[in-house]
Formats: sequence, C-alpha cells, structure tokens
Amino acid sequence: MPENPVAGFGVTFKDMFKKRLTEQYPEYKKPTAPRFHGRHQLNRHPDGLEKCVGCELCAWACPADAIYVEGADNTEEERYSPGERYGRVYQINYLRCILCGLCVEACPTRALTMTNEYELADSSRESLIYTKEELLAGLEEGMVDSPHAIFPGMTEKDYYQGLVSEAAPGTVQQHATDTGAPQESADTYGADEPAAGEATTGEAAAYGPMTHGVVTAGGEGER
Ligand code: SF4
Ligand code: SF4
Repeated sequence: MPENPVAGFGVTFKDMFKKRLTEQYPEYKKPTAPRFHGRHQLNRHPDGLEKCVGCELCAWACPADAIYVEGADNTEEERYSPGERYGRVYQINYLRCILCGLCVEACPTRALTMTNEYELADSSRESLIYTKEELLAGLEEGMVDSPHAIFPGMTEKDYYQGLVSEAAPGTVQQHATDTGAPQESADTYGADEPAAGEATTGEAAAYGPMTHGVVTAGGEGER
C-alpha cells in the first residue's frame, strides 16, 4: 500500500488544467515547413519534356530499396526527354520509403524533388506503389505533354542551362506507344531468384536477394 494514495494522481491533476493540444485534423491541416520531405515529384522542363533520364542513381542511393526505374532510348518519333534516354518506368514504393531524401540528392538532373504532401496513408498495398503517371508533375502554361519533339535548334545542354522557357509554337504531342509497363512480367520477374529467406549461405543468407527488382502491383514484389 503506498504511503499517500492520492499522490499517484498528481500527474493526472496537473494535466487536467493544461491547455489542450487537440489537433483538428483533418479539418485543419497545419502547414508544413517549406522544405518538408513529402511525396516525390518527377519534374518537367518548361516545354513539358521530362527531366528524368532513367539513370537509376536515385534507386541505387535509396537505403530502403523503394525505387524501381527502367530507362529507355528516346527516338525522334517518341521523345520524352531532351537527351538520349528517359525514365520509361518509374515507381516508388511508399510502404518502404522513409522519406529521407537521399534519392533527391542523388538525382543529377533535378528531375526528382519532394513535395509538401504528407497524406500518404491508404487501405491497400497496391495504391501505395506510385507509378510514373502519379509522380509526374502536371502541365503548366506553355507546356505540351510528352512525348514531343525537342525545341528546334536547342540541345540537351541548352535545356539544362534554362534556355528553353516554353514549348515551341506548333509543338504537338507525339503518338505514345510506350505503355510504361515493366518490360518483364511482374508475375515472372525474379522467378529464378531465391525468395527472401531462402538464401542459405554468405551475404545472400544475411540480406536476401539484393536485386533492384520490379515493384509489382500485387505487393512489394520481387526485390
Ligand atoms: S526518400 Fe529515401 S527511402 Fe524514400 S525513395 Fe528516396 S531515398 Fe528511398
Ligand atoms: S529521377 Fe533522377 S536519378 Fe532517378 S532515374 Fe531519373 S534522372 Fe536518374
């Protein structure tokens, strides 16, 4: 039996008279700090072409293995970015992402940045794997949606030097044949890899398969 049974209520009584800290979320959303690390965005050049060159540096920098990228070559008939390559498939798995921003630091073209959006909760695993279509920035004034031709007379370097400020007059969107689907079927990708937990020796046993695998719509996929 404690010496003073009322003393146990000390903390309760002290807090009863403090100002309440109830947040009226979601009716009132507290503004985030300007450099808050929220949902990612894939940026565009001022004429609408994409900044991502499909180099995969963001994927390799990610400590949570949350990014999957497949690059492909641009053609004059189907051009998504000013240079040679573009990000054909781009996925971020927000079940894995810890919003650390290392991928943004690794990106050489400033294609990848983070927004202030933090409402990322959802009720299914599939919906938390964001695809390129969901991550790509919207169109602003002066932009034409990719794919389309490069600004006449401009080079990739000119784009990065900020010499292109809008789409050239008469620019039209090209016919897109790229479906943006991973080139290997999600059902078969990594079928020849041991499943996580099946590795038996050495490093593989300790860490499991470390391939940068596709994030499937059915879950975290073969990683
Ligand atoms: S913010 Fe961090 S964890 Fe999330 S995708 Fe980028 S590098 Fe990976
Ligand atoms: S977002 Fe940046 S780092 Fe990632 S593939 Fe595209 S260009 Fe490379």
